[in-house]
Amino acid sequence: MRTQRQTVDYSLQRRVVLRDVRNGRIGTLEVCDASPYLRNAATFHGEPTEVRCPICRRENLTLVHYVYGDELKQSAGQARKLAELPSLAMTLREFQVFVVEVCRSCSWNHLIERFVLGRDGLTTDETLQTEAMVSSGGGGSRRNGPSHSGEARR
Ligand SMILES: [Zn+2]
Repeated sequence: MRTQRQTVDYSLQRRVVLRDVRNGRIGTLEVCDASPYLRNAATFHGEPTEVRCPICRRENLTLVHYVYGDELKQSAGQARKLAELPSLAMTLREFQVFVVEVCRSCSWNHLIERFVLGRDGLTTDETLQTEAMVSSGGGGSRRNGPSHSGEARR
């Protein structure tokens, strides 16, 4: 995505966990512990992948995108569809996205990456374009009233 920045990749940690599972150092129960909420999020907001679950190999993994940030208000911490993120990124200045992979068969889950999205990542030109787009969308255009500075000086 265009405004994506500050990406942190967790594939190394994932590899370590998977290696420990194969060595028997970690039990599969410990890593296959997706909560009912996460499994629901995978069902309703998940992004299907072509990647087989590394634990059970029965099903392809699903990616769930969680969004965090003050500007999201009450929807902070909720899962969003991948397709919703670009428009959210044009509306908000900055928010965090956490990408979690989930197996809906065995409940394996792991954080894949996190990154920041939002209009603050645009160049000045792009910001102007976006503002034109948003304001032409109608509603909530704030107009500056007549200047009060003249009155104050009277
Ligand atoms: Zn699985």
